[in-house]
Amino acid sequence: MLPNSCPSVLLIYTGGTIGMIENPETGALENFNFDHLLKHVPELKRFNYRISSYQFNPPIDSSDMEPAFWAKLVKIIHYNYNQFDGFVILHGTDTMAYTASALSFMLENLAKPVILTGSQLPIGVLRTDGKENLITAIEIAAAKNEKGEPMVPEVCIFFENILMRGNRTTKINAENFNAFRSFNYPALAHAGIHIKYEEHLFLKPDLARPLKPHYLFDTNVVILSLFPGIREQTVSSILHVEGLKAVVLRTFGSGNAPQKEWFIHLLKEATERGITIVNITQCASGAVEMERYETGYHLLEAGVISGYDSTPESAVTKLMFLLGHGLDSEEIRKRMNTPLAGEITKSTKKNF
Ligand code: ASP
Repeated sequence: MLPNSCPSVLLIYTGGTIGMIENPETGALENFNFDHLLKHVPELKRFNYRISSYQFNPPIDSSDMEPAFWAKLVKIIHYNYNQFDGFVILHGTDTMAYTASALSFMLENLAKPVILTGSQLPIGVLRTDGKENLITAIEIAAAKNEKGEPMVPEVCIFFENILMRGNRTTKINAENFNAFRSFNYPALAHAGIHIKYEEHLFLKPDLARPLKPHYLFDTNVVILSLFPGIREQTVSSILHVEGLKAVVLRTFGSGNAPQKEWFIHLLKEATERGITIVNITQCASGAVEMERYETGYHLLEAGVISGYDSTPESAVTKLMFLLGHGLDSEEIRKRMNTPLAGEITKSTKKNF
């Protein structure tokens, strides 16, 4: 029996590759029963931690992830917040960056680690990356700083030895073990022989403020990715989708778009109808600077706002989150331009 003072971690299994094992008789991949976690990952016994688990029933492939499941995760974390030092969420890799972004906005005043991880190979496969990811994620979730406070007070993704701010990540590889990157914000920690934390990069929550969970989302949003030759009718149809409230516009380079009159007119007409249009770049790395080229200026004049260096995952979940709270378009524009959980860097000169 472990003393109450030992570190405690709640493991939440939502589904995905990590939680599968090979049936030794049939060879088929089956969902893992987390009640038997210690049997399959005996290494966990070597932690002097109290590890409890919660399993989605049935587990879901992360392609089926929905705001209702994000709300369920927030409910579980809120309900157990005072009983655990940290939380590890096992999640399919396909939409992990969306979930991490959404949770970062939903868990206001978060002061404890919420670490998402998964794997490219199931935990029951010999060459799995799942065990390393799981074991290190648990260690990070339990880690304390010199003052005895949680080391990582934010929502992160830990994958292939790198800890990243969740709302800065993107899945970049469907094959290799290093499946995630945070292009516009440095890694928060590297796991080698030691886990090296970059404490100066973490969010600094006010520890006196209680966790404030949020649950509401409005999915009347769309991501519109530009390409040379995009048709007027296509853009017009998207901007006239019934009930549409916001658009993540994925533009070229540092935020540039065609200068055609019909295009600017359609955007202007949409912003005048109260639709928020946020400009982010299609490039994996770097930020939008609408003042830089004339093409960007036309967008500003049409009422499009800058998404700075936001990932698409973060921009779209933040819009759904803000819209879910019934804010008007002026307030949404203001908040899209203010970092809520370290998701954007407004200055182009980065002082990391
Ligand atoms: N399709 C799986 C999922 O995202 C892939 C994975 O787990 O890596 O749930």
